[in-house]
Amino acid sequence: MVFGKNVVIYDLDETLYGKSEKFADILDETMAEALVYDLGLKMDLQKAKDLVTKSYKIYRDGGEIFYQQYGIEPRDLFIAYHKRKPVEKIIPYDNLIDKIKKVPAEQYVFTASDRYASEKILKHLGLYEFFKDRYFSVEDFGVFKKNEDAKVYKDFCRKIGVNPQDAVFVDDSYSNLEFAKEAGMTTVRIYYKNNSAKDKKYIDYAFKGIESFLDKILEYKAA
Ligand SMILES: [Mg+2]
Repeated sequence: MVFGKNVVIYDLDETLYGKSEKFADILDETMAEALVYDLGLKMDLQKAKDLVTKSYKIYRDGGEIFYQQYGIEPRDLFIAYHKRKPVEKIIPYDNLIDKIKKVPAEQYVFTASDRYASEKILKHLGLYEFFKDRYFSVEDFGVFKKNEDAKVYKDFCRKIGVNPQDAVFVDDSYSNLEFAKEAGMTTVRIYYKNNSAKDKKYIDYAFKGIESFLDKILEYKAA
């Protein structure tokens, strides 16, 4: 059990690997390239990149400005962006799998990356074999985000045959946790620099990096 629950569900990006400013910047550029080179947006690449960065800041979604103002379809950007995602530049934690294997709960991944990119990321992190039949993308539920609605969390739990009340959801993005909580889950926020969301009532626990969360669980288990 983890916090009295049988199931732990992890976000993938920046939860099962660490956050880096440099990689975030590369991803903004990647999204700009998808917009300009793949989707034919008539815009200078640097301007597109600046707008992606701005869009993340305002909407927590780099594409939102382009959906609203430039006629870009969320589905098209979702696919083009994930095809270009430079997974090989992610820096994995050492031996994360050894800790994950010891967690006394059923474990799943639920990601806003598409299936193509999430498979590549899990392989790159050394977690693919473990999560092979236990990872799902938002696209499996016909959506592109998981910070809009509690429905996708309920659908996820139905898919794996688990009551949301029996599940812990772990995510670095607090805008996702709001809806995981609304669905009935216990919520864990992974933060990096400082715990910027500690005033949010829908966050039950917060840990600095995934390793400190896992260490805490394994400490309880050992006690
Ligand atoms: Mg994330």
